[in-house]
Amino acid sequence: MPAPDPATHLRDAARFGLRHRLSSRGPKLQGVHAREFVVFGTASQVPTRQRNHNGYFLRWDGEGFLFDPGEGTQLHMIHADVRASEVTRVCITHFHGDHCLGLAGVSQLISLDGASQLVRAYYPASGEVYYERLRHASIYQDVGRWETHPIAGGGELERTPDWTLSALPLDHRVETFGYRLQETDQRTMMPERLAALGIEGPAIRALMDAGRLRVGGRDVTLAEVSAPRHGQSLAFVMDTRMCDAAIELARDVDMLVCESTYLSADADRAHAHGHLTAAEAAVIARAASAKLLVLTHFSRRYPDVEAFIAEAKPVFPHVIAARDGETLVLPRRRAPLEHAT
Ligand SMILES: [Zn+2]
Ligand SMILES: [Zn+2]
Repeated sequence: MPAPDPATHLRDAARFGLRHRLSSRGPKLQGVHAREFVVFGTASQVPTRQRNHNGYFLRWDGEGFLFDPGEGTQLHMIHADVRASEVTRVCITHFHGDHCLGLAGVSQLISLDGASQLVRAYYPASGEVYYERLRHASIYQDVGRWETHPIAGGGELERTPDWTLSALPLDHRVETFGYRLQETDQRTMMPERLAALGIEGPAIRALMDAGRLRVGGRDVTLAEVSAPRHGQSLAFVMDTRMCDAAIELARDVDMLVCESTYLSADADRAHAHGHLTAAEAAVIARAASAKLLVLTHFSRRYPDVEAFIAEAKPVFPHVIAARDGETLVLPRRRAPLEHAT
């Protein structure tokens, strides 16, 4: 089979402003990037010699979202230096094995390591029996703190002051949900305006918290000294046929992680099995005006992922293929909102 071309991939990743490690054993930049997407594996259905089962970990400030932990996730967490104590949320799209078999090992690792954080698990409510089996697949002392959030119907799952997690039903052979994580829109302070008004130090925080600050006998509003900024966003669209929900999840996202199990030559097979081709994933990204498309979940019938890029690129040029063991930094946030408020 043709060898992957790391140089090309590195250039592509660099072009889109992403840090990229071909090997998780490379030099670490701990603490530099608070938001990054770790790829444990990119194989659909069964692992191959080149690709692990699906599995992804999103570092997002103090949160750690584990998406679709396929078989071997525990091992790949260790390879990628993702600690059990970092996992605060587990998001499972559906209960085909390539999206959940690793939950058994991760559950046990969390207990074994004495990780004390609360882990919230999101998954299709119809798969409750599989969730319970995987959480207790073998004998171990379960001391992990878990909170279950079975999803029925979809919609907003959780809202914090900083972000919202939502899910929508996709079109697969079994009940499947795609996810979207959306940072709350924010404001960027403009130092030159702050300086001109003599606002500095703790006064800046006070202004941000209250929305206004008394300066020189008048109220300075937050809008005067800051610009609006779209929150960062990521969509995770796994096993599905083409559907409106996939586009809705990906609407204007900074990063769309999307399954592309097949190439167009096997489109009939893709649709019969409830999957997308690379070109269809690109159509979703284009229709949604996503910023970057990351293809993954490749069938073992295709050893060379460059073929997926070749099919997707004419439709949506901002595309890369995920590679096992790499870490992607989320692309920069979108430009400031046009209409300041
Ligand atoms: Zn799958
Ligand atoms: Zn599936």
